[in-house]
Amino acid sequence: MKIINPATGAVLADVTSDNAKSVRNKYERAAAAQTAWAATPIRKRLAAIRSFGELITERAPELARTLTLEVGKPIRQSRNELKGLAGRIEFFLEQSERVLREQKVHTDTDGVMQERIAHEPLGVVANISAWNYPYFVGSNVFVPALAAGNTVLYKPSEFATLTGMHIADLLHAAGIPDDVFIPVIGDGKIGAMLLRQPVDGVFFTGSYATGVKIAASTGRRMIKTQLELGGKDPVYVAEDVDISAAAAAVSDGAFYNTGQSCCSVERIYVHAKIYEAFVKAFVAEVKNMKQGNPQDEATYIGAITRRPQLAVLQKQVADARKKGARLLAGGSVPKGKGKGNWFEPTVFADADHRMMLMRDESFGPIIGLQAVAGDDEAVALMNDTAYGLTAGVYTADEKRAKKILRRVDAGTVYWNCCDRVSPRLPWSGRKASGMGLTLSTYGIQAFTRPKAWHLRRA
Ligand code: NAD
Repeated sequence: MKIINPATGAVLADVTSDNAKSVRNKYERAAAAQTAWAATPIRKRLAAIRSFGELITERAPELARTLTLEVGKPIRQSRNELKGLAGRIEFFLEQSERVLREQKVHTDTDGVMQERIAHEPLGVVANISAWNYPYFVGSNVFVPALAAGNTVLYKPSEFATLTGMHIADLLHAAGIPDDVFIPVIGDGKIGAMLLRQPVDGVFFTGSYATGVKIAASTGRRMIKTQLELGGKDPVYVAEDVDISAAAAAVSDGAFYNTGQSCCSVERIYVHAKIYEAFVKAFVAEVKNMKQGNPQDEATYIGAITRRPQLAVLQKQVADARKKGARLLAGGSVPKGKGKGNWFEPTVFADADHRMMLMRDESFGPIIGLQAVAGDDEAVALMNDTAYGLTAGVYTADEKRAKKILRRVDAGTVYWNCCDRVSPRLPWSGRKASGMGLTLSTYGIQAFTRPKAWHLRRA
């Protein structure tokens, strides 16, 4: 399998993909190792995870360079991701022992009957991952899965294979046995082969289209299946904001990671009273964003990781233009970029819900803005979507923000912020954004099965 640099089209490496036989063999190794791993004292399991975090921090400059080379993410943003990973690991280290401890929940007054809850690992879990934040979306699964005593078959995205291999090497160097965490290398076909193994849980991050296939393949087996899928995340900007501060924050939410985040801002509704002023400030922000070599410290907009996405973006631009949106920045593939995948940061004003731009996940540096008459219209439009990952409101009035956000059907809501993930809060999509959750203490329990103990001293 060839690993391509999306910024230049150059071949970075040639790696050997798995096949049906090797996937089977990896499953058997993971299954054989699981009981002993679950019996390893939790402090020892966590010590290995702590060492993994330390190795990540030590090797961050080199890991960031690789990530930038293979996904085209601007180098500063790659470093931010690695820094953020250390924070997530810290959260799991602090919480896992308490969350996974067996609990006594009831004792009769005479002490005869006792009830307890034990948290047993699922067994062997498949972790099928996306490329856009490979350290985040991978570790949200494999760190708590390993902490809870599962063995993990980890399939990085074919667009983040080198990073996936680094992750495996560092986990092994940190003391996670080779058969407890096993990388499975390859594209979607290899992912499908992995799902044909009798795994005990499937934790998937990726697109809605693939999520549907995964759910269909695991549905008959009654195994735990979690799907973290796409989004079409809205932000509403009310008329009482500081316009330039809001424009700076929301444009960052829309264009950070070159718009390739599941929780990127993908639609913006602006109160009619400040609409033109906000659009002007927003476009000025976007025109200031430096697009260029992702290894350059000043670069803010990098390459598009997957080439087919260019056609999706071009289609959205053509559709928005045809239906009357005003193109105020970008709109096409920049010239002189050779075989790399590039798209100009693109802004449309006067967008509306007849347009693909406001309905389909863009997953790239493109955004539509629409004027609204007030909060009710904003809520109706925010909810007019197949997705339900995040939604944000910018207003000076906290009460008003909460009133609006209570009515919005999304797993995560933001007041005066956006495109933000915290390890302390559950990350869950509604509707086509998926099912299940990662992060928070719920995201540790997710990798366990409860066993209910009824104990009677006869
Ligand atoms: P994708 O669906 O193309 O691929 C995801 C993974 O699934 C890859 O490892 C791929 O090889 C594998 N795969 C593909 N077909 C398969 C099959 N039939 N069986 C098993 N595995 C298969 O998605 P992507 O392009 O890697 O990621 C982008 C998408 O992920 C976007 O929609 C984005 O919003 C979403 N995402 C969601 C979250 C979240 O937390 N909700 C986080 C990051 C990305």
